[in-house]
Amino acid sequence: MSLAKETKRCPFCQEVISATAIRCKHCHADLSDPAKKAKRNSLSHLNTFRIGFLSGLLFSAILAILAWLQCNGQ
Ligand SMILES: [Zn+2]
Repeated sequence: MSLAKETKRCPFCQEVISATAIRCKHCHADLSDPAKKAKRNSLSHLNTFRIGFLSGLLFSAILAILAWLQCNGQ
């Protein structure tokens, strides 16, 4: 009874396999990716965002220094 709940169909060969399977026992397809790939994508997206933020911060700091130097010169 409880066994039927824990199954899904393999997207590749349509055979019934365990819901937590990371590899199909019938066609040996890799079923582990979607969640992991999504996590990896969001992580790299976060890194890109952080790099953009830091370079923006650095740029505005340089601008502030240049403005300060100009004020001091006059
Ligand atoms: Zn399969």
